[in-house]
Amino acid sequence: MSRPAKVVINLSALRHNFSRIRTLAPDSKIMAIVKADAYGHGIVHIAQSLEHADAFGVACLEEARELRQAKIQQRIILLEGPYAGEELSEISELGLDIVVHDISQVEMLEQTQVCKPQAGKQIDVWLKIDTGMHRLGFLPESVNQVITRLQQTNSVKEFRLMTHLASANDRDNPMTSEQIRCFNQISENHNVEKTIANSAGIMAFPDAHVDWVRPGIMLYGVSPFTDSQDPQQGLQPVMTLQSRLITVKQLKAGDAVGYGATWRCPEDMSVGVVAAGYGDGYPRHAKSGTPVLVNGKRAKLIGRASMDMLTVDLRTQPQAKTGDPVVLWGEGLPVEDIANYADTIPYEVLCAVHKRLEFSYGEG
Ligand SMILES: *Cc1c(COP(=O)(O)O)cnc(C)c1O
Repeated sequence: MSRPAKVVINLSALRHNFSRIRTLAPDSKIMAIVKADAYGHGIVHIAQSLEHADAFGVACLEEARELRQAKIQQRIILLEGPYAGEELSEISELGLDIVVHDISQVEMLEQTQVCKPQAGKQIDVWLKIDTGMHRLGFLPESVNQVITRLQQTNSVKEFRLMTHLASANDRDNPMTSEQIRCFNQISENHNVEKTIANSAGIMAFPDAHVDWVRPGIMLYGVSPFTDSQDPQQGLQPVMTLQSRLITVKQLKAGDAVGYGATWRCPEDMSVGVVAAGYGDGYPRHAKSGTPVLVNGKRAKLIGRASMDMLTVDLRTQPQAKTGDPVVLWGEGLPVEDIANYADTIPYEVLCAVHKRLEFSYGEG
């Protein structure tokens, strides 16, 4: 038998989440964000299953190339734009769009000017405006000047305008409305397509929907909010990390469990060993008490996570035995909970899933 740790990807949950986005933002086109191997889910399978997405957003040329090799036809946007002028010929061969956020990228485009632009070789640009996040983008006062330069550059086909929200996952933070206001003020004179919202913007700020929305984490069934009463927000988890108990043992009060002997049995009890660990991407910092589903019921992680193994407290189910199924996150156990216990965010937990695992794609 092969190693019991596996990733199961539920493509109907993915499509359910996609249609939730359509319902929330019915008048916007959807740029599905599939960077970082689709947040660890496998970029090609995810893109192929999102046949109704209007575009895909990726971080870099390598990811875009993988999508084109898999015959993905939709618009693909390089969210950080080109890193060097040499990338532009492949970008235009592959028919990719670029984000332009730095003046060096404007120069790259100007330097590839040709006397007679070949039809179909020009590049669509998404001009990024920094409305307050202060990571990527042009400051508001320089935007008009950059637009003028792009309009004079014949390697550029059309341009669109975008910005990124810094705090939309905190519904009460006044920064988001301020960013939206700033973006609208700059962009209102330009009759081009616009985009503002990530998942949190889609869910909490309808004013941010505009022409295009850019969902990432919510596609994968994870809420961007940390404070919510309803953690799932009508979304369904796409990824389940599962494994099995590979042994169950009876320990005595005072016995230590795992590396560093950080956890001791408070009483005579049974302890299970799960075949999965940080070598699979399970967060090593998950604390004792992190929930784990054994036979569909919650049990607690105890002691330190090892590279290929985890130990669980089986006092809640003394009948559990070797071979029983375990879920580490996903269906029945939100990855949000695991992230909380590991002092991180679900984004990081999902992206860290290791490619050594067997992935299976199905309809759930
Ligand atoms: C990653 C990313 C998104 C998606 O963010 P989520 O919070 O996962 O929805 C949207 N826009 C840009 C520019 C991004 O880099």
